[in-house]
Amino acid sequence: MSIAAVKKTTLKPKDYKSDVSVVWCPGCGHYGILNAIYRALSEAGVDPSQLISISGIGCSSRSPYFINSYKMHTLHGRAGPVATGAQLARPDLAILVLGGDGDGFSIGGGHMPHMARKNVDMTYVLFDNGIYGLTKGQYSPTSRPEMKAYTTPYGGPEEPMNPLLYMLTYGATYVAQAFAGKPSVCAELIKGGLEHRGFSYINIYSQCPSFNKIDTIEFYRDLVEAVPKDHDVTDLGAAINLARQSSEGRAPMGLLYKADRPTLDQRMHAMVEGVNGRPDYDLNQIIDLNRP
Ligand code: SF4
Ligand code: MG
Repeated sequence: MSIAAVKKTTLKPKDYKSDVSVVWCPGCGHYGILNAIYRALSEAGVDPSQLISISGIGCSSRSPYFINSYKMHTLHGRAGPVATGAQLARPDLAILVLGGDGDGFSIGGGHMPHMARKNVDMTYVLFDNGIYGLTKGQYSPTSRPEMKAYTTPYGGPEEPMNPLLYMLTYGATYVAQAFAGKPSVCAELIKGGLEHRGFSYINIYSQCPSFNKIDTIEFYRDLVEAVPKDHDVTDLGAAINLARQSSEGRAPMGLLYKADRPTLDQRMHAMVEGVNGRPDYDLNQIIDLNRP
């Protein structure tokens, strides 16, 4: 989402905390991401009265409660379509979507490509812990086969999906990855996403010490590797090559890709402007045509 239209403030990160107590387990990586969000909002100068945070269901989907903003806690996997509607209705607001790997890529998996290809102007922060935490530990789309969960007591029979490749392939115009143990990197990338006009996707690895016993904070620390300094963020092919590393035991951390492309609301606005006043454009006639 772009914050170009949003009134700028000079609030501190603590000013973005709501008065609701955070209820995650001790050691959960989500604390680091939430703090990075506060910092990113402060550094980007987003006015809380022009911010809406939207989520589906899951531990990370509780995040909007903890943020000083308007908020919607929607159905499992449905944060994206709700956010798309909110963005079209109120393009003057900053839209932040917060959720996990199961919510985003399993239950909500049908919606992800469409937000990306339509270039809906919003920032989607995905808390990727490779597990369903809220429902107490089931295998998720980003779980590694080695992980033994309640639903996979002998390990998983399938390969994890690669969120970065997915988003790059479907046309997201800002794609980045970080790790909750590096809150400064997270904050910088989220701020970049907030400032980008278009669909921003930030994948953040986050340890779940209660249910994912193999993707520990140490595991993620060793896994991530900073994007090379000479990486060209406008080169889609180079970004895809970096993203593929995540399937090969290394994970890029940083901004992989950034592109300028008209957003859904810009295109719809242009379309409406184009047909308004045309003699062959009669809304009532179109409605009549669609009546049974
Ligand atoms: Fe965090 Fe896992 Fe606890 Fe959920 S279950 S709050 S993801 S540690
Ligand atoms: Mg999860």
